[in-house]
Amino acid sequence: MELNQDAQVDTGQIEDQRGSGGGGGIGGIPIPLGGGGRGGLIGLIVTVLLVLLGGGFGASQLLGGGGGQPNNGNLNQECSTANPNRLQNLDCRNTLYVNSIQNFWQSELPQVYGQQYQPADTVFFSRQTSTGCGAADSGTGPFYCPADKKVYIDLTFYTELTNRFGAKGEFAQPYVLAHEYGHHVQDLIGTEAQLERARQRDPGNANRYSVMLELQADCYSGVWAAHATQTRDAAGHPIFTQVTPQDIQDAVNAAGAVGDDTIERKAGQAVNPDTFTHGTSQQREQWFTTGYQSGDPKSCNTFGTALGG
Ligand SMILES: [Zn+2]
Repeated sequence: MELNQDAQVDTGQIEDQRGSGGGGGIGGIPIPLGGGGRGGLIGLIVTVLLVLLGGGFGASQLLGGGGGQPNNGNLNQECSTANPNRLQNLDCRNTLYVNSIQNFWQSELPQVYGQQYQPADTVFFSRQTSTGCGAADSGTGPFYCPADKKVYIDLTFYTELTNRFGAKGEFAQPYVLAHEYGHHVQDLIGTEAQLERARQRDPGNANRYSVMLELQADCYSGVWAAHATQTRDAAGHPIFTQVTPQDIQDAVNAAGAVGDDTIERKAGQAVNPDTFTHGTSQQREQWFTTGYQSGDPKSCNTFGTALGG
């Protein structure tokens, strides 16, 4: 994978909540995480505070330093064209991935679904944050919140993705972001709402519906990857000059690394398909590949006839 030296980084699509002292993003230095212990104590304190205060307050505001109001000052500076090293910077690279993914859907959605794309910001947070979907911490991993239509990510997740889940190669990162934006697309075109109704009709199969939704997001991620080198910044420069077969393999491996069966096995648990919410490694790899090979979101019919007519 190669990013275009001339690409302009649009930090306006990011809300940086990490603050000037926030960990993880400054200069893209990865913070080593103790196995699974991250945020344990802080999480506990936050939970206690939230209970005491009756919920309602965002964890980051309570503790300070970790988030709250977005302040893109640092991000703007490190990703400005005046910084010759901006493309080596984790924050700026991830901002460009977001720019690329949204540029793709901006043109694809009207063509395929006859509908305008609504841009969605990505929030960079550190440790914990409050969202339209409630308080969240890094332990939940990156996610999309339909209530406020934002993607949330603590970029230190990538260290975990490599070290704990064994997903190597940088293209794992845009795979993750494109998966989350896949959920935004599902929200925009009404799939998310349809599925919610199906879940209520048929709560016994709620996990099965969840798997279909997640596999479709993997497929949309593959569709974006197929078009990544065609995406442009605001000035019309290509964002990627090259996406290699190895990059695609890295994305496939990342999809497989976060399969439910693999995660359960790694945690020393019995593999139980009834508990799956995202799909098996094999399914996740397969649906990313389907999206990549077709380059067509319509190929991402993971629901079959499950949603009815
Ligand atoms: Zn997902």
